[in-house]
Amino acid sequence: MMIDQIHRIPPETLGIISNFQAPFIRDPNSLFGTKATLVKDQKASSDKGKGKKVAAPLADDSEQDTSEDEFPSSGIFAGCSYTFTDSDGKLRRVELGKVLFRPHGILGRGTIVVEVTCSCAYEHCLNGCDWADLQLVMKLSFLSKGRCAEGDLIDTCTKLAAQNPKHAWVLNHLPKVYASFIVPFGPGTVQYRLKKYFKDAYEEREVRGSIQSRLDGLMTLKTCREFGQAIYDILQCHEWVHKYPRILHRDISLGNMMVRTIDGKKYGVLNDFDLAVLVERDDPTPTSNHRTGTRPFMSHEQHGFFWKGPHRARHDLESFFYVTLLLACLYEKPSVKVIATGLDTQYETWMVSGDKDLHVTKRDIITNGSWNPPVQSYFGRLDAWLYQIHSALYSGFRELQDFRLIQRNINLGLVDDDEPLPEFNEETLNGHVTYDTMIQIMHTLDNARLETRNPERQVYLDSRIKSKSKSRRL
Ligand SMILES: [Zn+2]
Repeated sequence: MMIDQIHRIPPETLGIISNFQAPFIRDPNSLFGTKATLVKDQKASSDKGKGKKVAAPLADDSEQDTSEDEFPSSGIFAGCSYTFTDSDGKLRRVELGKVLFRPHGILGRGTIVVEVTCSCAYEHCLNGCDWADLQLVMKLSFLSKGRCAEGDLIDTCTKLAAQNPKHAWVLNHLPKVYASFIVPFGPGTVQYRLKKYFKDAYEEREVRGSIQSRLDGLMTLKTCREFGQAIYDILQCHEWVHKYPRILHRDISLGNMMVRTIDGKKYGVLNDFDLAVLVERDDPTPTSNHRTGTRPFMSHEQHGFFWKGPHRARHDLESFFYVTLLLACLYEKPSVKVIATGLDTQYETWMVSGDKDLHVTKRDIITNGSWNPPVQSYFGRLDAWLYQIHSALYSGFRELQDFRLIQRNINLGLVDDDEPLPEFNEETLNGHVTYDTMIQIMHTLDNARLETRNPERQVYLDSRIKSKSKSRRL
């Protein structure tokens, strides 16, 4: 129980931030090893001149990101630089900027995303540099030791997609990772002391870092249709990642849905593979295996007191339901939260609720046949998705409960021995909650087709239309 509580302490409290600030300025090598150094670099900052942040103060950046992305300590890394050797053996140097993202309510890890710009070879980044025009971020994640590195998983996806033209579409919907590194916890840190005290009972963590291309948040989108398209894109990417590289993402949330613009066109990006696992390989970290994800978006079973997994694809599909629900009910338009008036903000508390409350609340929704979501008019067209996904979940879980009842009664000897136990498919809730179901629901919005990015899925949808019109003629 105590271990459990320690895991719920935000990583900041466990020392990651202070750990980062102090030792890396005093003795960068102690933190990053010999290959990489992170130094406070006055020269590089002052060289950048006007319009660029120079040092720690916060609100000196007038050009962008006025409110929600800004943190009280968003300037803590400003003026620092980080030097490392990339996988091709090339020396890289980036200058750190503003902290963009530090999520709350996340189990199993903590993440910081910092804006970086390439300043290679201790000079200004020159035209010849392949990172010269890239908008980059450095991501630092606080994770269980031994977990598959995000960079490796994304790399697996990217390589597979690049091998075959039929998979190439998915590259638009995956994060782009330029370099990865690991920061172990050394003697003197809180982590180290906890590990020493609790020995094997304490799940060890480490900081993983990577350099990735900068993506935009979902809230930069402008119309309900753009939101629908981005979420549908991300569903297709999630399916591809599960079907081909056999990776389960396990952390579907509003914050992990990002947007990339290519030639003026917007593409939904499935971001953040920190909690992802290879489907065929067991998660090496037993504690995190139980409950992973971002609480408000986790499937209701995962909040259950006796939840022991396994985490299946359908749990992520249920998370797509909560993403759509919270988006459509909590925002009156992009980035603007509904002002509390009662019923229409009943989901506001999900952001801070514990597992017990969320378990009951979500279960009540799924088992309520007359459920009605208070969708905001801006997102009104998403209600068709919500009703249809709700119906799928409702049917699936009703059949699961029926199955469990029979199973229990057989075990108690309340049923004749010769009565066979009916079959039940836990993976898909008897076929009710599947990628097929979700694709059928989400490929249209407001009776108009969205863009289906996966050619395989386009064929599937076309064949359904054909077979439908055929059966109508017969
Ligand atoms: Zn460069």
